[in-house]
Amino acid sequence: MTAVAAETFMASPSRADNAPRVIVVGGGLAGMATAVALESAGVGVTLLEARRGLGGRASSFEDPQSGETLDNCQHVLLGCCTNLLDFYRRLGVSHLIHYERTVHFVGPDGRHYGLSGIRGLPAPLHLGPSMAGFAALTLGERVAVSRAMLAMLRLGKAGRLALADVSFGQWLDEHYQPPTLVEKLYDPILVGSLNEQCRDASATYAIQVFQDAMLAHASGYVIGLPACPLGELYAKFPCRDVRLGTRVSAIRFTDSGASGVELTGGEVLEANAVVLATNHHAVRRWVPDELARRDARFARLDELESVPILGAHLWFDRPVLTDSHAAFLRGPLQWLFKKDAEGKAVHGVISAAREWVDVPREEALGRFEQQIRSVFPHARDAKLLRGVTVIEKRATFSPKPGVDRLRPAQAPPAGGIANLFLAGDYTLSGWPATMEGAVRSGYLAAEAVAHALQSRIGKASRSFLVPDLPVQWPARLLGHG
Ligand SMILES: Cc1cc2nc3c(=O)[nH]c(=O)nc-3n(C[C@H](O)[C@H](O)[C@H](O)COP(=O)(O)OP(=O)(O)OC[C@H]3O[C@@H](n4cnc5c(N)ncnc54)[C@H](O)[C@@H]3O)c2cc1C
Repeated sequence: MTAVAAETFMASPSRADNAPRVIVVGGGLAGMATAVALESAGVGVTLLEARRGLGGRASSFEDPQSGETLDNCQHVLLGCCTNLLDFYRRLGVSHLIHYERTVHFVGPDGRHYGLSGIRGLPAPLHLGPSMAGFAALTLGERVAVSRAMLAMLRLGKAGRLALADVSFGQWLDEHYQPPTLVEKLYDPILVGSLNEQCRDASATYAIQVFQDAMLAHASGYVIGLPACPLGELYAKFPCRDVRLGTRVSAIRFTDSGASGVELTGGEVLEANAVVLATNHHAVRRWVPDELARRDARFARLDELESVPILGAHLWFDRPVLTDSHAAFLRGPLQWLFKKDAEGKAVHGVISAAREWVDVPREEALGRFEQQIRSVFPHARDAKLLRGVTVIEKRATFSPKPGVDRLRPAQAPPAGGIANLFLAGDYTLSGWPATMEGAVRSGYLAAEAVAHALQSRIGKASRSFLVPDLPVQWPARLLGHG
């Protein structure tokens, strides 16, 4: 499929004529992952996307002023995002992801601190020397962090899951982590990963970031940055029937469950199963109350809190950023990414950006310009030529303690709405709202659909989820189960 709308359903040559047909609503990462997995199992998929392009919240748009293709926001992945990387492999775009083995932190005084793993050393030894010499922290803070990392290792996965109702702030206090560490280390790493203030996030998800990215496997922390606009990653999306600019207005139900969808033009499409891969706000509107009452997946969706993210595209009159990125130890911008070869075009991000929603654009740009000039001495005379800010008010849900009780499973529960499946970063994926979480949810939805249709899809693979990176031996020796 190229990025043009296919108007008719076309059967795959390898697909039997009586192959089951599944409609996937929403062409974000979750919907695309569902579709690509089901097609690989010989299921006929029709993917419906309201917008003119794929990608949803991880997509690009044309800047009306310059005609340039810009991402709605810089998207970063890590080496531990095994399912997202599998998805890119299925799309044939793995080579478009560039990897960075050093995380570049920059202090408010402009000092640079690198965190990098030693090649060949297994986790968590690989980051040991870099953490030991991480001069942004005092010696006492480094000792405190080492104690916390050891405690996180010893928790293993089971111990971390048991902390779902505990805030990371409480966990930090119980482990005597000084408040200065929140500013210098925990917030810079976690706010961008979780889109929440680290003390307010669930300890489960905060500790998962450290376990999966830094402590279990030496590749986990490596930063992946798309080397092209996000939209280009999906340009050759390998599904046959993708209908862009096609908005679903209603779900069709029969006594036995979901039977298809209705489009805004009135057209009705029937299917053996429907996967809703939109955000949860749309999902709840489509399910009538009397049906929602017998399907626990819809009971608490309204309680998921949305948290904004601000992205700022900035063009300076001279190079400001030399490395591929900078993680600022003090804001307002939390991360900055280089968007051209010279470092004149940069992209700044503020996660958990609640207090930025009403800040006028010019004021925000002025503060970003001032920050960049003050932390990069070579840029102190740099002038901001132009800036575009994008604030996504409903960027992701807040991963607060207890949040998983609000998140629905992909498959209907016993007695729930048959043939109606859910995918999306808000569904129960084991991950916070990230690209990895969205792809996982899509693979899980595809597994649930394939299971439900098993009598019709024969021996095709029904398992799509890719395992986590393995826990390496030193981490196992230190107690990571
Ligand atoms: C500003 C920002 C920055 C982020 N940065 C990162 C990052 O650095 N790293 C990371 O891992 N994650 C990041 N994320 C999170 C990540 O983008 C999301 O978790 C992920 O893209 C969600 O994918 P999804 O498929 O679940 O939902 P969506 O992307 O929201 O997809 C839902 C799709 O459904 C479509 N749709 C809605 N209604 C209809 C309808 N009626 N008919 C047809 N189609 C419909 C929508 O148009 C959309 O394309 C960021 C998110 C934002 C907003």
